[in-house]
Amino acid sequence: GVHEAYVRSLVRRAPDWPKKGTAFLDMNPLLADARALKQCIDSLAERYGGGFITHVAGIDARGFTVGCALAYALNCGFIMVRKKGKIPPGPEGSSSILSEDYELEYGKDTLEVASDSFDTARVTSPRVVLVDDLLATGGTATAACNLLRLAGATIVEVAVVMEIMSESLQGRRRLKEEAYIDAHALL
Ligand code: 5GP
Repeated sequence: GVHEAYVRSLVRRAPDWPKKGTAFLDMNPLLADARALKQCIDSLAERYGGGFITHVAGIDARGFTVGCALAYALNCGFIMVRKKGKIPPGPEGSSSILSEDYELEYGKDTLEVASDSFDTARVTSPRVVLVDDLLATGGTATAACNLLRLAGATIVEVAVVMEIMSESLQGRRRLKEEAYIDAHALL
């Protein structure tokens, strides 16, 4: 596990950002601290080690940081779940882009993955851990699970650094009810 008080002390709270009345939890100081970063990655690698996982997927953009480090630690491949408009077309249009709209706390956004993200000729049944920095409503992670499944993956679990739990933010429950997936949070 992580030395929780230490790692938690490196999460910064930005009040009234990006909007007045909301607080943003920023893990940049955690990423910048070698000991905290190592604890987080090691803890996740211990949980998902053993060879069952074939890929780690990360959500654009903060999920890429922890996600790709975890993939390296697990000796797995890494898949980027991207915000809309970032994925280049495949050779001669051979791969299509899968996309899913999802609700944010305020407004809407779209996530995308390439349909050929997993080389299913070589890995016949990809088993994936999906990583992001933070779970709030669960809308983002649910959309990402849907996309990765369309691309042929089995999602094993969603892993986040931070989980916000409140009356109005029931991300863990939503993920379970809508995507049938459990969440694991370090903090
Ligand atoms: P959800 O879809 O679960 O409501 O929101 C989670 C997504 O929004 C994640 O991709 C996360 O990066 C981003 N997000 C929402 N609120 C925060 C926050 O307070 N801090 C950080 N770091 N990310 C947030």
